[in-house]
Amino acid sequence: MTAGGELFRRWFDRLTAAAADEKPTAYVFVMGSLAEILRVFDFELSFPEINSLQTAVRRVAHQYLNEAEDYGYSPDVCGYLKADVAVQLRKGAHPMGTLPPPRIAIAGNACNTYVKWAEIWERLYHIPVFTLDVPGTRRAASQTWPGDPDFAGDCAYVAAQLRELIGLCERVSGKRFDVDRLREGMAHTNAMTAAWRRVIELNRSTPAVFSAVTEGTVYLGVVNGFRGTSEGRAYFTDLVEEMEYKAAAGLGTIDDERYRLAFVGVPCYPIFRRFNEMFSGSGGVFVNSTYLWFASGGADLGYQYDLQRPLESLAEGVLISVRRAMDAMFHPARLLADLLEPYAVDGVVYHPIKSCRTVSTGLADSRRALMAQADVPSLFIESDMMDKRVVSEAQLKNRIDAFFEGLTARRARA
Ligand code: SF4
Repeated sequence: MTAGGELFRRWFDRLTAAAADEKPTAYVFVMGSLAEILRVFDFELSFPEINSLQTAVRRVAHQYLNEAEDYGYSPDVCGYLKADVAVQLRKGAHPMGTLPPPRIAIAGNACNTYVKWAEIWERLYHIPVFTLDVPGTRRAASQTWPGDPDFAGDCAYVAAQLRELIGLCERVSGKRFDVDRLREGMAHTNAMTAAWRRVIELNRSTPAVFSAVTEGTVYLGVVNGFRGTSEGRAYFTDLVEEMEYKAAAGLGTIDDERYRLAFVGVPCYPIFRRFNEMFSGSGGVFVNSTYLWFASGGADLGYQYDLQRPLESLAEGVLISVRRAMDAMFHPARLLADLLEPYAVDGVVYHPIKSCRTVSTGLADSRRALMAQADVPSLFIESDMMDKRVVSEAQLKNRIDAFFEGLTARRARA
């Protein structure tokens, strides 16, 4: 946690320096960042979603949201987007430093907001916006995999887009594409995603070695922000070692683990620590979450690039990973049902949020689908990941306490 915090302080220092030096910066999103390609051209990467959530963790998000709403954005619009609009209106002023304006932006289709958000930068800065279209799951159990002609078609479609992006990056940066630098970045990503998968797996141990909501959010930041870098690789090498040690020694993330929970949705950043304490105070620990899957852009699958055929393999990895991220948001019931037993889950907590329709829409249906498949108690609580005006701590606490009473009674009956 300390090392992750330090990495992010340095990250914002770099962005502040990039703003001062007018260094070319790419704005990217966590699902389909294409960091490996952008790093070949020495773009600094800025993740507006991460920048925005930092304003909430630092308890100033409401100032940014109010500013964007005064400017004309509706309260219904994604809170991350609005905080970023306010940052842009303030010429990059952010609680962690100064954020540089973009020279290029990449918007994937994993969230429809991404595309509209990037159009704002296009209007503000007259920069090229590259829209990455990744074919998602068409219907239940219709995913195709390597060896299937449909999969090959989807891969070719993504690969053609990546080649187009490389041409665009050459034009914007004035640098030639270097496939060996791409391979180098991909090798770092391979190590990071394999480690990320392992870290998540290690939370099968009892007691859980980390909280998927608190520590997990820091790991997520590193897996996104430092994707394809030696720093990210070193961080995850150490993290696996630490988690292996904790698992072997029976060291849990909380002292008194009584209930193992799965989390669905996005955390409540305006009261981040307090939100977790409402669960940990009753011995609840989050052992896994859909957030770890989709907000890492599907890196939890640990897809390994084949460095002998970098571009084709990058396209394959992007397709499989971004598709996974979309599945984790749009129909997580089956994925959740599969983790109940291995992670010994006692209950599932659904946390739809006002500011993110993409993740929240359909969660009630998804919950019903899971209940039809599995005998597991669940809790449905609503708040927000940015907007403290719709976070009612007392109401949340009542619901959460009642949920634990139910878990206790159920265990007593058993
Ligand atoms: S709507 Fe949700 S997934 Fe989309 S950008 Fe906003 S927070 Fe991210």
